[in-house]
Amino acid sequence: MSTVTDTAPAGSAGTERPVLRMEAVRKTFGGTVVLRDVDLEVAPHTVTALIGASGSGKSTLLRCANLLEEIDDGAIFLDGEDITDPRVDPDAVRRRIGVVFQAYNLFPHMTVLDNITLAPRRVHGVARAEAEERARELLERLGLGGKAGEYPDRLSGGQQQRVAIVRALAGRPRLLLLDEITAALDPELVGEVLGVVRDLKEDGMTMVLATHEMGFARDVADQVCFLDGGIVLERGTPAEVFGAPRQERTRTFLRRIV
Ligand code: ADP
Ligand code: MG
Repeated sequence: MSTVTDTAPAGSAGTERPVLRMEAVRKTFGGTVVLRDVDLEVAPHTVTALIGASGSGKSTLLRCANLLEEIDDGAIFLDGEDITDPRVDPDAVRRRIGVVFQAYNLFPHMTVLDNITLAPRRVHGVARAEAEERARELLERLGLGGKAGEYPDRLSGGQQQRVAIVRALAGRPRLLLLDEITAALDPELVGEVLGVVRDLKEDGMTMVLATHEMGFARDVADQVCFLDGGIVLERGTPAEVFGAPRQERTRTFLRRIV
């Protein structure tokens, strides 16, 4: 069965040009600084986990990366291209990035297949037959082979969220941004969605995810960033951040949440 990404894992993750790079990114809302001098590098085929308390800026960081928010200062690069340059077409950038949010946001009046193929057909100009073939392949891969004709309300929350992931993958994104994709799920459904993320990592997908699932972040992430008040206060491998946090605030956060 084909993989979800076009390029196989390089095995040399970290040595290539970053897929995503943020440089001194500053974001304010009505005078309040929400992201302060955020630097971030995401190497190809790696997973970056953003952790931190509610309100620390995780979602805003992801929204800035996808140009859903305009930054006040700094720059963001996708595959080396400055996507915060005003001459860049934000829609073209968003076509290269897949996004999944906490709530599945599927269109209730459309079948699973139509939910998935809508953007490829309308936005990417892919022919219906080709879009549907890709969608069916992805559904199969994510264990939803029989669900193409279903409407979202006939699916469990975990299945809906997996459909949302398929939808995000349908446009063959370079980068996948996942914002607390298990937060709205019943506990027994969390595992199947996290399992999909694990599989995507195996396939070499580059991902940045905000999560409260610390055990998962520890397992799956190559890089963990702890955000505190809009600052990346601490970053490192899971072993470094979870095993030997250097900052008192990180220690306090981890004590509270684990
Ligand atoms: P997290 O995802 O870590 O919970 P957010 O990025 O959602 O954090 O929020 C960071 C801060 O930015 C919070 O103080 C939040 O209230 C504020 N914020 C987020 N979005 C907006 C907005 N559209 N308008 C004003 N303030 C916002
Ligand atoms: Mg958030």
